[in-house]
Amino acid sequence: SEEALNHAQRLESVGQLTGGIAHDFNNLLTVIQGNLQVLDELPALRSDGVAPELLAAAARASRRAAELTGKLLAFSRRQVLQPTAVDLGALMQSLVDMLRRTLDQRVRIALQQSADCPQVLADPGQLESALLNIAINARDAMPEGGTLTFSAEPCQTLPASVRLGLDDPTATAESFVLISVSDTGCGMSEHVREHAFEPFFTTKDKGRGTGLGLSTVYGFVKQSRGAVAIDSVPQVGTTLALYLPRGGRALPCAGEAEADATRLPS
Ligand code: ADP
Repeated sequence: SEEALNHAQRLESVGQLTGGIAHDFNNLLTVIQGNLQVLDELPALRSDGVAPELLAAAARASRRAAELTGKLLAFSRRQVLQPTAVDLGALMQSLVDMLRRTLDQRVRIALQQSADCPQVLADPGQLESALLNIAINARDAMPEGGTLTFSAEPCQTLPASVRLGLDDPTATAESFVLISVSDTGCGMSEHVREHAFEPFFTTKDKGRGTGLGLSTVYGFVKQSRGAVAIDSVPQVGTTLALYLPRGGRALPCAGEAEADATRLPS
């Protein structure tokens, strides 16, 4: 629809603006960090008890600022990704194992993969951090616990709203893999759903939310020539659907139980 297209264009221009700022800001941070390093190595300052702590605090703050600009750069597509054919089955299994060890025990984590789950073409590190961002949001949406479900399957249909968000308008469903992450949490209002991908949009307390999680996810899928959609019902839950380009040949996905037994030595 017209509205979805406008939305994609608005995100695009927000991306260009934030990307430009993040890029220049990062250069300034490099200068600050370099100067801090020089100061830190001055013998006169080393013997003074106070200055090293101040320098360390300044260095920590600028590292944190660099992390934030890194997220903004990911959103604005100025960061270069390395797409490779990724074995989704293995990537999701290890992510789920890690989340089961680290997330609140009241969050049940399920993994569903179709038997003919194909590979995707994406940067594996960025894909993992995108899924992690989504999982952390899901956890935040379920303070009392609930179910977090990951699934991956060859894409059957490409919703029109998703197709509008794609760089390649001739793309067909067969060329994508659908990865979905669902939670049984608080859900989003219409307003939140409309703005969720914008950088710095957050409904969380200062200090807890940066508003950069979903904008990073958006930047990652756009740069991967994929698309992302949110389906959310207040008080019921939220599903993030990531459509990523297929990569390589179809690999039989290792199911949960036989994940280790079926892994062949390479
Ligand atoms: P942050 O998590 O730092 O607020 P995000 O960009 O990741 O930033 O998310 C933006 C907003 O979208 C969140 O503040 C929240 O209101 C909403 N949101 C994201 N994921 C979910 C979810 N799974 N359930 C409900 N609301 C969500």
